[in-house]
Amino acid sequence: MSNQSTFYAINAATNEELEGSFENATLEHINSVVNKATAAFDIYKKIDNNKKAAFLDQIAEEILNLGDALLERCHLETGLPIARLQGERGRTMGQLKLFATLVREGSWVDARIDTAIPDRAPLPKPDIRHMLMPLGPVVVFGASNFPLAFSTAGGDTASALAAGCPVIVKGHKAHPGTSKMVADAIAKAIDICGMPKGTFSLILGNARFVGEALVKHPGVKAVGFTGSYGGGKALFDYANARPEPIPVFAEMGSTNPVFILPEALKEKGEEIAAGMAGSITLGVGQFCTNPGLSFVQKSDDLSKFYNQLKLKISESPAGVMLTPEIKKAYDKGIERTLGVGNVEEFSVGLNGDSPNAGTPRVFKTSIENFNQHEDLSEENFGPSSVLVEANSKSEIIEAAKNLSGHLTATVFGTDKDLVEYKELFDILPKKVGRIIVNGYPTGVEVCHSMVHGGPYPSTTAPQSTSVGTGAIKRFVRPVCFQNYPNAILPDELKNENPLNIWRLVDGNFKNSKI
Ligand code: NAP
Repeated sequence: MSNQSTFYAINAATNEELEGSFENATLEHINSVVNKATAAFDIYKKIDNNKKAAFLDQIAEEILNLGDALLERCHLETGLPIARLQGERGRTMGQLKLFATLVREGSWVDARIDTAIPDRAPLPKPDIRHMLMPLGPVVVFGASNFPLAFSTAGGDTASALAAGCPVIVKGHKAHPGTSKMVADAIAKAIDICGMPKGTFSLILGNARFVGEALVKHPGVKAVGFTGSYGGGKALFDYANARPEPIPVFAEMGSTNPVFILPEALKEKGEEIAAGMAGSITLGVGQFCTNPGLSFVQKSDDLSKFYNQLKLKISESPAGVMLTPEIKKAYDKGIERTLGVGNVEEFSVGLNGDSPNAGTPRVFKTSIENFNQHEDLSEENFGPSSVLVEANSKSEIIEAAKNLSGHLTATVFGTDKDLVEYKELFDILPKKVGRIIVNGYPTGVEVCHSMVHGGPYPSTTAPQSTSVGTGAIKRFVRPVCFQNYPNAILPDELKNENPLNIWRLVDGNFKNSKI
């Protein structure tokens, strides 16, 4: 049984305790870990790019070396199928390797050089140089829904380490065994690559004070988080109330609105319905990009789309949800939706045996009803979605204008639809971080151009992305060097360009010396 000093993981499918106990972090432990990270920062930030890149690659290798044991433990703790976890492990390793490539190449530091013009009149122009530099120790809150790719060695950790910041992960209490195994793999990589000991630490604990104490610790300089609105906002508020406020990159809820335009409905209604059913139920709907809200326009062509969506959802099996709390929250959300009134339970999937089985559910309502009830636009984390039927194009446009901040928006349309509804494309970039045309929002590619972020309340930092190489920018700040002698400039900014990186020199991109 769990007590104050230890806790156990539970089997997501059965709610039974799993083998192994985990120590609840104490304040002394938290202080010691942050102090070690602070000491490590001064060494780690100066480590050669190639060595840092090799370290990230080594973490990926060590995760793979954990073999099937990692996937099996993770499956028990999260209920996620082994095949999904195999894919997620690949993504986790891929992210680490992508950041290794970025660090090895080096130009990401955004080096800018404005050379001096001593004889400029009326005033001489000084030599001014700019680059991005790491913030310091970063606390990462492991996400429950990505136990590998957004947890201990996930995207937040990879991007912070790549930026030159030591990382302290507050492991999610739903998968402590998985977190511990990955943390051990990182510790091995630290030893093999000769990195300072405090470069990475894992903190476990099932009490709220752990996260609070970490965010409030003066040694911590930034926070990465994926989870609920309530959790993200609480951490954001702690960070802003500190004597020295720090940035919190919290990725919180989103209903990811979908607009299915009339001609697309007519031409491809069945195909879109099948794809939507797949996207709503993927991973038991436990993705932040899950399409929780769709807008369609009343027409005779709707029936094929409706029939197919109804059928596909009714055939979709329930899946094990990540935790009993998440299952409870999902059921409450269903009750809340039904409690609104004038909401049709459009289609219900198959029930499951597990106490934490999440059954797919799609609801339907009129735009008038939707406009009167804010509850209907709120995220219900799990395999559920609300279909909103509008009467006209202007109601669809109005609905887009009324959206709050989301991670994604999706538009299905033929070429003619896209021209006819072009106003949507003026509105949506103000509302979301990523707009998808004729695709599905689930499935976030890890690449250079990805934006996984969006205006508040989908995140607390609309200027950032938590997926893709742009994520590194969260953990750095620009520093400017004026009239520095060449010898004491960072290598990135030296005249001879020893790292051979691309730099903006007097307004022109160059990878040569100056
Ligand atoms: P969560 O409750 O937000 O927790 C995430 C992490 O933040 C946990 O480590 C948690 O610690 C910590 N935390 C939360 N509130 C805190 C506070 N006030 N002070 C200090 N630490 C705090 O997310 P979850 O456990 O993953 O799932 C709960 C709900 O979050 C879901 O039902 C779903 O609605 C939402 N969710 C959304 C996404 C998304 O991508 N948008 C992803 C996952 C979950 P403890 O473990 O101690 O609580």
